[in-house]
Amino acid sequence: MEFCGGHTHAILRYGIRELVPKTVEMRSGPGCPVCVTATTDLDKAIAMAHLPDAITVTFGDMIRVPGSYSSLQQAKAEGADVRIVYSTMDAVEIAETNPGKSVIFIGIGFETTAPTIAASILKAQREKIENFYVLCLSKLTPPVMKALLDSGEVKLDGIIGPGHVSVIIGSYPYEFIPRDYGVACVVSGFEPLDILLCIDELVEQIQKGKPKVEIAYPRGVKAEGNRNAQRVMEDVFEIGEANWRGIGIIPQSGLKIREKYEQFDADRAFSVSLKPPKEPEGCRCGDVIRGAATPLECKLFRRVCTPETPIGPCMVSSEGACAAYYLYGGELQ
Ligand code: SF4
Repeated sequence: MEFCGGHTHAILRYGIRELVPKTVEMRSGPGCPVCVTATTDLDKAIAMAHLPDAITVTFGDMIRVPGSYSSLQQAKAEGADVRIVYSTMDAVEIAETNPGKSVIFIGIGFETTAPTIAASILKAQREKIENFYVLCLSKLTPPVMKALLDSGEVKLDGIIGPGHVSVIIGSYPYEFIPRDYGVACVVSGFEPLDILLCIDELVEQIQKGKPKVEIAYPRGVKAEGNRNAQRVMEDVFEIGEANWRGIGIIPQSGLKIREKYEQFDADRAFSVSLKPPKEPEGCRCGDVIRGAATPLECKLFRRVCTPETPIGPCMVSSEGACAAYYLYGGELQ
């Protein structure tokens, strides 16, 4: 299983599934930040967008993801001020230049983006920007890997470790995978040759019956990760439960803003009432995220659900598995 949506896209784009022997079956995993955001959390972000004098700031893909009853894009069409940024620092700047507004940044993502979200909170504190808030939906990679392995729903022999996440956390946090589950784990970069090298190392480990953690991306990843980024994260966040689409609540799998930075926590600052969440009918994103189904097994894939008319987040996101299958092939069943 490749954990990361970036790997899914590279694997399909470069035809790597066709290059490897038929005995190697590859599955996409839950590593797409937009896709794993639970519908109820998305509904909360949409509700916050409708608060008076609010500016909602988000990364691009989030805006088109359908929530239970609306989307951020629809909220924008209805008059809410919803803006796309490419950096968390842009969100802080929007707060600085709009002192009369409450600027709410929708903080999704894994350990890759969490340090930048933490840095934005530290900057807002340093510069005494009092109208900047983060709806913190950041998630952690090792706990969801553990949850998938514990469920046993998909029998995995090897995991392609996420390159960008591992730049931050290193490879030590994956040691439990071979130790407790006997599953091989190799961290990979994103070039086709990186991925082929990673698969080669995984197959060799499995053939020898000696699973371990290896780094096939040494130009980007050190075993100990990036200590500075880890320190910033630890200062701003504490670990708590998180709600994952298709999986549910996983304890100790999310990041919460620590009490000392509570003035920046949108969850503490604003209260919104939500209707019960509902999932798009027929959408199998949950199964796709868990690796229990491929997008081709969804009856809506390509017939109804396309990048222009997405039904679920896995078709919206540039890292989503359904978008990758749509763009780079995969025959309907
Ligand atoms: Fe959901 Fe569309 Fe993917 Fe089906 S093809 S699982 S409807 S996003």
